[in-house]
Amino acid sequence: MNLDYQHTISKPVEFSGIGLHSAAPCRVRLAPAPANKGIVFRRTDLENFEIPASWKHIARVSYATSLMRKGVLISTTEHLLSALTGLGIDNVVIEINSLELPILDGSSKPFVDLLRQAGRRRQRAPRSYLKVLRTVEVIDGAKRIAIFPHSRFRISSSIDFRHPMVGRQSMEIDISPESFAKQIAPARTFGFLDEIPQMKDMGLVRGGSLANAVVFTRDSLMNDEGLRFPDECCRHKVLDLIGDLALIGYPLRAHVVAERAGHAMHTALVLKLVKDRSLWELTTSEEDIAEERPSARELAVEQAATD
Ligand SMILES: [Zn+2]
Repeated sequence: MNLDYQHTISKPVEFSGIGLHSAAPCRVRLAPAPANKGIVFRRTDLENFEIPASWKHIARVSYATSLMRKGVLISTTEHLLSALTGLGIDNVVIEINSLELPILDGSSKPFVDLLRQAGRRRQRAPRSYLKVLRTVEVIDGAKRIAIFPHSRFRISSSIDFRHPMVGRQSMEIDISPESFAKQIAPARTFGFLDEIPQMKDMGLVRGGSLANAVVFTRDSLMNDEGLRFPDECCRHKVLDLIGDLALIGYPLRAHVVAERAGHAMHTALVLKLVKDRSLWELTTSEEDIAEERPSARELAVEQAATD
């Protein structure tokens, strides 16, 4: 199986849960979609109104990324979009009967498990990659995010929180279905106990609990089970970033470097990049892809995902 063809899922899968911010119960069905359809949300509670997962529909971005088209909202898109991008799914319809994606365990792991159940089906259409030609950067005080020309999809991320269990963390990773599933997908969303009352006043995290988030007290952790990785927070930032970069609509050939960035910085970079046509080109070229063949191990994992 090559990475240079578009992929959808082999069969539909369903799940349900509550939204992290709205606490609204929600049912979701992922269905195969034709080539060039892209990733599209379909509000089954609103006459199947469709909202493509595109930078064209970016709405609110603070604690989560929301899309809006003609006044219809779809919220907290990043964890599912991250899993789809991470596993190399180009075309899928996400049927949803509410306005916010279920948070499940706060990570992308449940989505990865579901997508592996669904299987991955190669389509006939070639996949276009967005190849970055020139560096683009967004800076906001101590926050910075930049995207550089690169032959693969690589992410470097660093965070700095004044907390004894977090502090400064950084990682650099080449994203493949295998590395995403193992190193990034299990990392959960996180928050600080001190900030929760204020967030609830803002109408946020109403569905939040220790079942779907890592919560830090002033000097420790509330979750009995502990962290999944010592640098789980930094890994979750990478997860969120991949989910927001999915709004570009094409898999990337670029190196993204994020320092203390969040959804607002991620989406600012996406908009700055896509709107300047001189910064990138689309490529389906075999030569470009040929040197990027996945390793034998990655192929084995992909095969397993399709079985
Ligand atoms: Zn997140």
